Formats: sequence, C-alpha cells, structure tokens
Amino acid sequence: MSKVRAATVWLDGCSGCHMSFLDLDERLIEIAGSLELVYGPLVDAKEFPSNVDVALVEGAVGTNEDIERIKKVRERSKILIAMGDCAVTGNVPAMRNSFPVAKVLARAYQENADLNQQTPTVMLPTLLPRSRPIHEVVPVDIFLAGCPPPAGLIYDVIKELLAGRVPDLSIRCRFGA
Ligand code: SF4
Repeated sequence: MSKVRAATVWLDGCSGCHMSFLDLDERLIEIAGSLELVYGPLVDAKEFPSNVDVALVEGAVGTNEDIERIKKVRERSKILIAMGDCAVTGNVPAMRNSFPVAKVLARAYQENADLNQQTPTVMLPTLLPRSRPIHEVVPVDIFLAGCPPPAGLIYDVIKELLAGRVPDLSIRCRFGA
C-alpha cells in the first residue's frame, strides 16, 4: 500500500506548532511506516508538490506571499488542517490588527531598533492590513486548536486520518491550551 503523502507548512507563526509536531518523538518513527513527509521545514523540498493527502499548516495569513502559498497548498492538498491557534483564529500575529501597517512597521524597524532604524522596502513580502486565520482565505477541513496543539493530539489526528476516519476534536481541542 502506498504511503499517505503529508506536508507541513509554516506561515505567520512562531514555529511552536512545528516543535509540537517534532515532540511526537518515537511516534514519528512509528507513523513513518505509513506516512511520507513530502514538504515542510523538516524536509529539503523547494516547491509545494502536487497530490498531497494531508497538509498541516501553522500560522496565520499575514502577507501577500502567504495568500499565494495557502492557495497553492489548498489546490494541491486533499485535507488541509489548520494547526494551532494562529492558523485557526489569527491569535498572536493578529494582535497587530488594531494598528495600521505603517505603524506596525515603524514600531518594529525604527522605534524598537537600536541600530539602522529604517523600514526595509525591497525583497520583503507586503504585510496585509490584517493578519487573517486560514479559513478566511481558503476552506479548511480540520481545525486543530491549541498554542501549540499538544503532540499527543497531533498524533491522534494523524492516526485517525491514517485509519480513514475524520477525527472528532470537539471535546479535546482547546484554544490556548
Ligand atoms: Fe506559535 Fe502558538 Fe501560533 Fe503555534 S499557535 S505558531 S505555538 S503562537
């Protein structure tokens, strides 16, 4: 039987959700028998591939590049999991949403900088006016809340999907947990 093709994606997040994924520890070896990781920060693939079965996406959609990336992920993935509170609600990246982009950039690059106080203007993606949860941009199949979601919960979701079932997260998932 061919392996399930899985990908992980890092948008506007702190990588804590990926760290939680890595916390599967020896369970990663267990699921490696039936799951192949084809894209993500943990593998050396430059382009998001076609025919992905499951994509776990960390982070909010904060830039024009994020929009292009999440649309491509959606087009090429059968199941898209919003992994973590930033992906599900906007969470930490959305804290900037009360302020105009120009003020956010000035705060980060000038007011809080000790050296070279200037806002970069080239080679950077454009910040959106608001940092948005993924479901505002593309349809999401599974909402895996938590900041980060615990490794055990990520493991259970993967196991359920490998068994051909849609995981029921209504009881176990908690925002901020
Ligand atoms: Fe980091 Fe929490 Fe956002 Fe995950 S949900 S990327 S751990 S801030």
